[in-house]
Amino acid sequence: MKIFPASLCSAAIIAMASPALSADVNVYSYRQPELVNPLFDAFTAETGIKVNVSFLAKGLVEKLKAEGDRSPADLVMTVDISRLNGIVEAGVTQPVISETLTANIPAEFRDPNNQWFGLTSRARIIYASKDRVQNGEVTTYEDLADPKWKGRICTRAGTHSYNLALTSAVLAHHGELDAKRWLQGVKDNLARKPQGNDRAQVKAIYAGECDIAIGNTYYMKKMLEDADQTAWANSVRIVFPTFIDGGTHVNLSGVAMTKAAPNKENAIKLIEFLSSAKAQEIYAETNGEYPLKAGTKPSDLVASWGDFTADTIPLIDIAKLRAASLKLVEQVNFDE
Ligand code: FE
Repeated sequence: MKIFPASLCSAAIIAMASPALSADVNVYSYRQPELVNPLFDAFTAETGIKVNVSFLAKGLVEKLKAEGDRSPADLVMTVDISRLNGIVEAGVTQPVISETLTANIPAEFRDPNNQWFGLTSRARIIYASKDRVQNGEVTTYEDLADPKWKGRICTRAGTHSYNLALTSAVLAHHGELDAKRWLQGVKDNLARKPQGNDRAQVKAIYAGECDIAIGNTYYMKKMLEDADQTAWANSVRIVFPTFIDGGTHVNLSGVAMTKAAPNKENAIKLIEFLSSAKAQEIYAETNGEYPLKAGTKPSDLVASWGDFTADTIPLIDIAKLRAASLKLVEQVNFDE
């Protein structure tokens, strides 16, 4: 696998024109190297097709728009349904018709118009202090707004895509008025101003600053694997909350094909590979995410956190509520 920095893109475009490189698949990724490289290596080992990855922190849509027809990118990979949907809505993707993908990825985890495909899921759960929170004390997302948690909750910014998706789910379940009340209630319960990433909230529980935090499941694995963070992880247990009238909020990581994809054929092979049992198991073992293909299982560690039933609000609906959620977050000054 070859990594080409964003600044070399014009060179990459020229290189793409040479027949020797024409079979390579080029990926623009918001996902981190350590998460996706093992998958691309396995794909290359199986097919002989090389994958070149450009890792981006932001500006993926702008970059694709600027490159237009001359873009070397075949695929984009990212987390979060709103980001995936945003890329599609920007008009820089094309549909992929594949029986393999239809068979491997459950309908709720792919775009009805075949513009994006989920590859893994993650649940947005509650990390609860083992010492200060009893079993059964918090069981629903609605509970987070209960005044009994006053001064006891930590979270990252309300404007972060993970939290916006959760707020969108609250909106979908309860409507605008109650969603706003919920958001205000959670804000009123915060131990501190929203800050840091999901793991920073667990650190704060460890440090005694708060008792429960909102976070994604796979961070538990990441913390356990980092010697500096193991103690944080061991200070909490995972609670899979549900909505009063629903299940546990999940989000996804996924992939889409760019409109300009120069190597569509091999790019489809790569997406299909990523949905295969082999790749789904790599995802499960390496990333601690939930595989989507029927018959594939999460890793033993992830399974040890317990079972849950995913909420049934379609992810595409969650994406469409992003703007409304952002408005609510701003109205209650959640991050101030
Ligand atoms: Fe994350």
